[in-house]
Amino acid sequence: MAIRRAAGPYMNTPQDLTKAHSGPSDRLGRPLRDLRISVTDRCNFRCVYCMPKEVFGADYQFLERSEILTFEEIARSARIFRDLGIEKVRLTGGEPLVRRNLEQLIGMLAQIPGLDLTLTTNGSLLKRKARALKDAGLRRVTVSLDSLDDAVFRRLNDVDFPVAKVLEGIEAAATTGLAPLKINMVVKRGENEDSILPMARFFRGTGHILRFIEYMDVGHTNGWRMDDVVSAREIVAMIDRELPLEPLDPNYTGEVAERWRYRDGSGEIGVIASVTQAFCRDCTRARLSTEGKLYTCLFATTGHDLRSLLRGGVSDSEIRSTVAAVWSKRTDRYSEIRTAQTARLPKIEMSYIGG
Ligand code: SAM
Repeated sequence: MAIRRAAGPYMNTPQDLTKAHSGPSDRLGRPLRDLRISVTDRCNFRCVYCMPKEVFGADYQFLERSEILTFEEIARSARIFRDLGIEKVRLTGGEPLVRRNLEQLIGMLAQIPGLDLTLTTNGSLLKRKARALKDAGLRRVTVSLDSLDDAVFRRLNDVDFPVAKVLEGIEAAATTGLAPLKINMVVKRGENEDSILPMARFFRGTGHILRFIEYMDVGHTNGWRMDDVVSAREIVAMIDRELPLEPLDPNYTGEVAERWRYRDGSGEIGVIASVTQAFCRDCTRARLSTEGKLYTCLFATTGHDLRSLLRGGVSDSEIRSTVAAVWSKRTDRYSEIRTAQTARLPKIEMSYIGG
């Protein structure tokens, strides 16, 4: 079954990509629409494909408190980006819920008019935090869960964390109304492709949207090889054989997940084919790292220091101009030019830049 991805030429950007957008567009005609903010570089998991223990061990030097953006600095940045046209902010990390009093930040961001606010979490602290997050103004959450098989999940998170607790977090989030929930599963060959069908069966009919993500070569610590990638096409075909699927139109231009729904009406799934069907041409996403560097691509090697501006008495309008200038020069399209060679280039770790 074919995966559909619109493939127009770059400079002929689909009209709705820039429609009603007053902010900057990059060199390839892509507007600035979304901001991912990493609120911490720390995580309580050591997922083998993201923060392997051999690298992120006891002596790993995480950022000092003074180096990371304060809630006020993050909220100010979000307002500046909102003025430049962003519509959506996703808080991520590291694990965002390990940052103390995160609900205070949610409360500050929720006051910015017209901003769609969401968060990606490993779910480990969600049962405890769901109510406070919702009350503070969070709309939705995405929970990462790579298997329902406890042994597989514990091996992947590498801190012996049980599946049951993540499921409790998902349940708590749903009960609180942080919905529709998205569940993200990264698929790595040889690790968890046997978990694809059990995950599909389990989440079908729950109203939660399960999304399968191709394993990517982010950072340089996970030893990525193309052979480890289970393609979105394979995943869709595997599910379709047992639970027939049909394609759905994207919700909006630039949506990263390809949408499919079960033919029997029992819900939808998504596949994020970041490796085999790169979607750089629609990428409208900027990233703000934990220490306030602006990155224009997940695979970037250098960021632009906004923290020194935020702390240096620079006005909002000057910072706005700086961000607009950075975005206007953007030419990134890493995933479209990825090769075995580029995969070996130094890159920023996902836990730092924000996944
Ligand atoms: N700790 C939070 C969580 O677990 O969702 C947020 C940060 S985490 C880096 C964000 C997402 O990136 C998770 O769904 C994780 O599985 C995914 N991720 C990390 N490394 C990846 C890789 N190499 N390829 C694909 N997805 C990856």
